[in-house]
Amino acid sequence: MGCVPVAQRHAGPTVALAVQIRPDHSFRDCRRFAFKLRQFGEPLNRASNVGNGHAGYRRRILMLAEPTARKDTQNLRQSVRMALVVVTAASAAERVDLAVQRDGRVHDADRPAPVVVTPAAAPGGAPADAVVLFDGRSTDAWRGDRGAWPVENGVMTIPSRAKSGGENNLVSRQSFGDVQLHLEFRSPNPPTKTSQDRGNSGIWFMQRYEVQILDGYRNPTYADGTVGAVYGWKPPLVNAARRPGEWQSYDIVFERPRFNADGTLLRPAYVTALLNGVLVQNHQAMLGTTIWRQVAGYKAHGDAAPIQLQDHDSPVAFRNIWVRPLTEAAVAQDLTKDGR
Ligand code: MG
Repeated sequence: MGCVPVAQRHAGPTVALAVQIRPDHSFRDCRRFAFKLRQFGEPLNRASNVGNGHAGYRRRILMLAEPTARKDTQNLRQSVRMALVVVTAASAAERVDLAVQRDGRVHDADRPAPVVVTPAAAPGGAPADAVVLFDGRSTDAWRGDRGAWPVENGVMTIPSRAKSGGENNLVSRQSFGDVQLHLEFRSPNPPTKTSQDRGNSGIWFMQRYEVQILDGYRNPTYADGTVGAVYGWKPPLVNAARRPGEWQSYDIVFERPRFNADGTLLRPAYVTALLNGVLVQNHQAMLGTTIWRQVAGYKAHGDAAPIQLQDHDSPVAFRNIWVRPLTEAAVAQDLTKDGR
């Protein structure tokens, strides 16, 4: 039985019975309930939704017949009482299940509904709650060590070091902790160099933890340094690189590390990354601050820091960069020790 009675109200001769319908049960289940009422000799006058509850719940009011005679009213009330006993007994097993979930009862109608976020009109676009870091026009969201990267035709390209006067990383003015990031990049075409000198850049979360950008198309290099790698630590699960000159997309979820009050590591950073829609890192723990040719380690830092795009002296181009800061609810989804 999918209908769970939650309230009963007598208003004059009318008896209203509110029932709660589990999302995985259909209106048919409720009709079965209504049929049980009819078995007790009372017609169902009308049934109406009273709104969609949280988590897909529906509440429905069954308005029973309005008897005119006092005797009929007594019969009706008796029928409802008996039906309640039947339905309550039928749903007793379900109620055992309802009690075991960690954050609330299963299908709890009072659980807050998810916040509405309007997605972009086109795939890859910034949703309504995103912080847009580059939309093809302005580089105001960034500061460069040696000035902004030039923008032309909606595309931002790493300038040559001869022009900028030296290494010129781009740093977001806003700081972030846990984020979802979208970014599109294009490796130089035709490629002119090899290995780590071909289309090298990188996304440095919190200016510390690098997800590598490289021209990974037929460009042999060390596995933990190719595109999709957690640089110096984890090679990508697969090589999903497009050819140089083609636009490529990164969609990354980064969870910042947590530290104890004494500065020791409580929980490492984690990264999930899709390159061109292909999973290359799946909730991968990061080893620590990215460092060349050394084993990474952690040093305690604050909860937020800028995102940095790396200048590795290669004219990689960028467009459509946005992030969504994530709430604590998006992090630490592990079950507790008792699974609740
Ligand atoms: Mg790099």
